[in-house]
Amino acid sequence: MNIQSAIIKGAKTLEKKLILSPYLDSEILMTKAINKDKKFILINADKNIKEKDLNFFQKLIGERSKGKPVAYLTNKKFFWNSEFIVTEDTLIPRPDTEIIVENILNLTKYKTNLNILDIGVGSGCILLSILKERKYYRGTGIDISKNCLKITKINAIDLEVNSRLKLYKTNVDKFTLGKYDLIVSNPPYIKRHILKYLDKDVAEFEPKLALDGGIDGLSEIRKVIKKSSELIKKNGIFILEIGFDQKNKVINILKKEGFYIISALKDLAKNDRCISCIKI
Ligand code: GLN
Repeated sequence: MNIQSAIIKGAKTLEKKLILSPYLDSEILMTKAINKDKKFILINADKNIKEKDLNFFQKLIGERSKGKPVAYLTNKKFFWNSEFIVTEDTLIPRPDTEIIVENILNLTKYKTNLNILDIGVGSGCILLSILKERKYYRGTGIDISKNCLKITKINAIDLEVNSRLKLYKTNVDKFTLGKYDLIVSNPPYIKRHILKYLDKDVAEFEPKLALDGGIDGLSEIRKVIKKSSELIKKNGIFILEIGFDQKNKVINILKKEGFYIISALKDLAKNDRCISCIKI
């Protein structure tokens, strides 16, 4: 069988299982199976695929049919300006989260030297994207998942920002180290009873630890805000990713902890997604 026919056959299998972008997914999984890029596939569409590669490809199609996200099958996801390694221990970086990076870059346009903390650093997509853009910034990432921190570290080495990064395995409540010019967090903020109704790809495959925000979705956000108000310098900037229905409640918590709200931004789907504030 040639590469093109295998991709079409794979896409048909995915289509039958109601996967939303069957052809694109099949093509990406082929790049993984034969370890080549998309350009190679375009140029060599009529070349025969080795039996070993075809078997691997069919295995990947089988897993995708069951809903496993493409990013977990390829272990890669492009975010902001870089490709990140992801595993099932980390949330898959979302395009919606790029608004957080964009906002941080806007708010710090004229600052040359900042010390940043990322609470719940995950794959590192937010913090490492900032460090990559700003050569003189330093970053600290904390997470309760040791496996996540291993991935952050690999990504930091790949992006050549590792020398400006410190990582700690800790619960946000217990972390007391340092004072920061800027704190960012994309904490778990989904209401626990909603978790099972998320898209199947998310609900069945992404880490609950990175999604579960307790009964009202705000239990981790509350902890993050409280701790940030202690760890942030006066006039420091605090940026938080929030759920689509959490803006007013989160603003109230922030005000109580001594933050002045700069802005509340919407994501690509026009949902409230990012709150920025200053510690006064
Ligand atoms: N935006 C993610 C989702 O909707 C949730 C991320 C989070 O809880 N921090 O799946």
